[in-house]
Amino acid sequence: MKIINPATERVIRNLKTDTVIQIQEKFKFAKEAQLIWQKQSIDDRLETVKKFSHLLAKRQEKLAALLTQEMGKPIGQARGEIEGAQARINYFIENSSRYLTEEVVWEQPGLQEVISYEPLGVIANISAWNYPYLVGVNVFIPALIGGNAVLYKPSEHTQLTGLEIQRLWNQCGVPEGLFQTITGAGDAGQTLIDLPLQGYFFTGSYTTGQAIYEQVATKMVPCQMELGGKDPLYVAANNSKLKQAAAAAVDGAFYNNGQSCCAVERIYVHQSVYHDFINLFVQEVKQLKLGDPMDPTVYIGPLARKQQIDVLQDQIEDAQALGGKLLSGGQAETRQGYFFQPTVVINTNHNMKLMTEETFGPLIGIQQVKDDKEALTLMTDTPYGLTASVFSEDQQQAREILDQLPTGSGYWNCSDRVSARLPWSGRGHSGFGTTLSHLGIRSFVQPKGYHLKENI
Ligand code: NDP
Repeated sequence: MKIINPATERVIRNLKTDTVIQIQEKFKFAKEAQLIWQKQSIDDRLETVKKFSHLLAKRQEKLAALLTQEMGKPIGQARGEIEGAQARINYFIENSSRYLTEEVVWEQPGLQEVISYEPLGVIANISAWNYPYLVGVNVFIPALIGGNAVLYKPSEHTQLTGLEIQRLWNQCGVPEGLFQTITGAGDAGQTLIDLPLQGYFFTGSYTTGQAIYEQVATKMVPCQMELGGKDPLYVAANNSKLKQAAAAAVDGAFYNNGQSCCAVERIYVHQSVYHDFINLFVQEVKQLKLGDPMDPTVYIGPLARKQQIDVLQDQIEDAQALGGKLLSGGQAETRQGYFFQPTVVINTNHNMKLMTEETFGPLIGIQQVKDDKEALTLMTDTPYGLTASVFSEDQQQAREILDQLPTGSGYWNCSDRVSARLPWSGRGHSGFGTTLSHLGIRSFVQPKGYHLKENI
């Protein structure tokens, strides 16, 4: 497998991918390691996770540079991702014992009812490339704390990062085989699906997720899907903080080059503030610096995948053919690397792919609406349900809209935000199951009820 730097289009490493037989061997080792690991106390497991977090901090600079080189994320955002991952790990370190320790839920003389939380066994963590540390730690940290072994399949666009993560675990002294990275593209992931693992935790696109879920269903083991989105943002009337709203919306749409599962993918603006908002929005977009992602002042790096340029170009052409108007950008840069100009299209509607299909790039459509009711109708017009944002001075108005939206997260005056304390989940084509929060700690264990009677 050739690892290509998307900023230079140069091959930075040639990797040997795992064969089917090697993946089967890895599964065998993982099963053995898991039996040792589950016997360790939760406190001992947490000590190992602390070591991992410490190593991550120590290597931050080197790991951030590697991530930038292999998937194009600007270096400042790569550093931020590793710091964000550490914050999430800290949450798990501080809270896991509380939610995984055996509990006596009822007792009377001679009789006890107890819940214990058992590991699933060996689980597959099949991951996307856009935030390999963040979406990785959402799964592999609570999975390991819960006593499982992990076969981690990073995307083909973040293989080197995946191998570094495995190296860190090995340096923490975990039983050999407890955490193993699977090297290879989709076919390596498919081999994991073909094996009898005890849980499947997938982050990626709806299309791949659906194909995997269909196959895992027959195994009768836990399965979670964290999939894509077409996340809407609505700017309501009477908003005196339009400049701040525009700046926040630009960040929500263009951070990580728009390649976030919860990126703002479409914007609706009340007619009373529409013109002011789009002027402020475009001013902000024109200030985004595009260039070498190793330059710490750069905000827009290259896309991770070359083929995404065609997807963006197609959405722009389709929108223009249906009456959309380009206010900035509109094409790929004529330079080495997969760079695409940050692009804003207005006069949009829901006949356009731009407003209905996942974009996953530095491109946003803005549509004018006459009132909250129309905004709500349009925001709901999607099979996805990951997040939605309302920018308004009135919390109650925002909650009324957010409460009616079938999404896993609702944002008032913010967007593209993830907290370790809150559940991360989707609805519809954005998937199902939960990571993060106390609910996400328990996603990787199975409860067992004990009925304990002293006398027969
Ligand atoms: P893909 O669906 O293309 O790939 C996801 C993972 O699945 C990759 O590791 C991929 O390997 C692997 N894979 C591909 N085919 C198979 C197969 N047949 N069997 C098993 N595994 C397979 O998604 P992307 O990596 O392109 O990620 C982008 C998508 O992820 C977007 O839709 C985004 O919204 C979503 N996402 C959702 C998140 C959430 O929390 N809801 C978070 C982050 C991203 P390879 O890449 O090597 O082909």
